[in-house]
Amino acid sequence: MTTSTAILGARSLAKRYGAGIALNNVDLDVFPGESVAIMGASGSGKTTLLHTLAGITAPDSGTVNYAGTDVTALNETQRSKLRRESFGFVFQSGLLVPELTAIENVALALMLNGVSRRDAEGQAAAWLAHLGLAGMESRRIGELSGGQAQRVAIARAQVTGARIVFADEPTGALDSHTSADVMGALLDATAGRGHTLVLVTHDPTVAARCSRTLYMHDGVLSPVAPARPALAPQGNPAAGTTFLPQAGPAPQEQNWAGRP
Ligand code: ADP
Ligand code: MG
Repeated sequence: MTTSTAILGARSLAKRYGAGIALNNVDLDVFPGESVAIMGASGSGKTTLLHTLAGITAPDSGTVNYAGTDVTALNETQRSKLRRESFGFVFQSGLLVPELTAIENVALALMLNGVSRRDAEGQAAAWLAHLGLAGMESRRIGELSGGQAQRVAIARAQVTGARIVFADEPTGALDSHTSADVMGALLDATAGRGHTLVLVTHDPTVAARCSRTLYMHDGVLSPVAPARPALAPQGNPAAGTTFLPQAGPAPQEQNWAGRP
């Protein structure tokens, strides 16, 4: 592959909430087969960006183009159809229906697109098995571990054949071992099949597994990590939003120092 067309393109995205700026003139091109990590402090606009790219949130101005469709020009019904048919979602939690079993949760994504229950459950079972959940099809979500539930969410996000998966802190509630496991499954199920992953994470070890990392800082998206908070004046409230958590070890410090 020498040339490639972006599957997702954002131009000059802006979004305010009251006086706060969540997105400040964001441009982004995402290519098929990429896995793009978006990092940044809490409140920096990561979720707003993900939701705007995915047609969940409408920007105040700017455009999002998905495979030739101007998502921002669609009405809510059209956007909802696009999300159901073309996009998959994996969030930290809360996307699965707790009253339903694993297989029902996955099959539901297909049934909402008009696939019969029988066919939907067949495809759902295959995805669950592919993700190591054979034998757990009939468990309700509460009867699964956090990592297993996230695998169900991955199956649900990909059973429809969605070409892009949007993931918001998909490993945020998991221990580091399970996180690595789930991240491997998510990458296999998306970029590993030529599909695209756009992922928000606080975790540099998760971001390091993606093909590219971008950084949000006060609504501005940049390929360059903001200065590390340790370099900011100590105890100066005007130093503003910090980037890495202050407590705990600084994992993979070389990733920060080594950014261009
Ligand atoms: P992140 O995901 O990086 O933590 P968000 O995108 O959730 O950041 O939020 C960015 C900014 O926009 C924050 O200041 C947040 O308080 C504000 N914000 C986000 N969603 C809303 C909303 N629905 N109503 C008001 N303010 C919001
Ligand atoms: Mg968020």
